[in-house]
Amino acid sequence: MHTPLCRHARGEPEAYAAHAVSLGFEEIGFSDHNPMRKDGFDNWRMNLSDMASYLGSVRVAREMHPGLRILVGLEVDYLPGHEDWIRELAAMHPWDYLIGSVHYIEDWAIDDPSMRPLWEHRDTFEIWSAYFERLGMAARSGLFDIIGHADLCKKFGFHPKQDCSSLYGGFLREAARAGVAVELNTAGLRKDCREIYPGLTFLTLARAAGIPITFGSDAHAPEEVGAGFERAIEHARLAGYTHAVRLRGREKRAEPLSSP
Ligand code: ZN
Ligand code: FE
Repeated sequence: MHTPLCRHARGEPEAYAAHAVSLGFEEIGFSDHNPMRKDGFDNWRMNLSDMASYLGSVRVAREMHPGLRILVGLEVDYLPGHEDWIRELAAMHPWDYLIGSVHYIEDWAIDDPSMRPLWEHRDTFEIWSAYFERLGMAARSGLFDIIGHADLCKKFGFHPKQDCSSLYGGFLREAARAGVAVELNTAGLRKDCREIYPGLTFLTLARAAGIPITFGSDAHAPEEVGAGFERAIEHARLAGYTHAVRLRGREKRAEPLSSP
């Protein structure tokens, strides 16, 4: 989940925690968009100087909601060539988990609503291929515990006519080798694609490849905490999953699926 420090989320972590408590959750996690070495890379992530406020705001949430376990991590953009920076970020705090996400292909953030028109002028299958190629590199890098919103390329509802199982398969081989988990991210339900990330075909292949799963609402506002989790659990079961993993100190522990 996110915080206002990324400049496109609303509400302090304390308010997210309060909503989680009202839902009866026992554990939540924050993973705001990582800072880059130099600020100004784009306008939808934390500045490097905000790292202390980030950790401070999570600490406040913990103090105000002692009965809730609150994990802290980062959602890190995987960009080829930035591996050293990602290692530095990883060493900045004893994170509970690092989510590796691909938003950028070349210098285009494919999920940025202001860049959506670019989708109209390019071949959808080519974009999806480039996206999954990069997602496979993110898994292979070994830098991450979880891969975020693994089929984000469907966000605006542009689906290739071609069969995409080979794209999924290429990524899943890398993910299995790296031991990285895939996140069931319910934010897709709130986007044009109206579908959890990743979709059922993808998730069924992931299950067959032995890839562990986690659950995330990708909340950018307190009331989005836990949104769609009933459906996410059903989605996991439909794909054949019986367990999900929890993270703590970057260690995974499998637990049977239950209701949220
Ligand atoms: Zn975001
Ligand atoms: Fe993301």
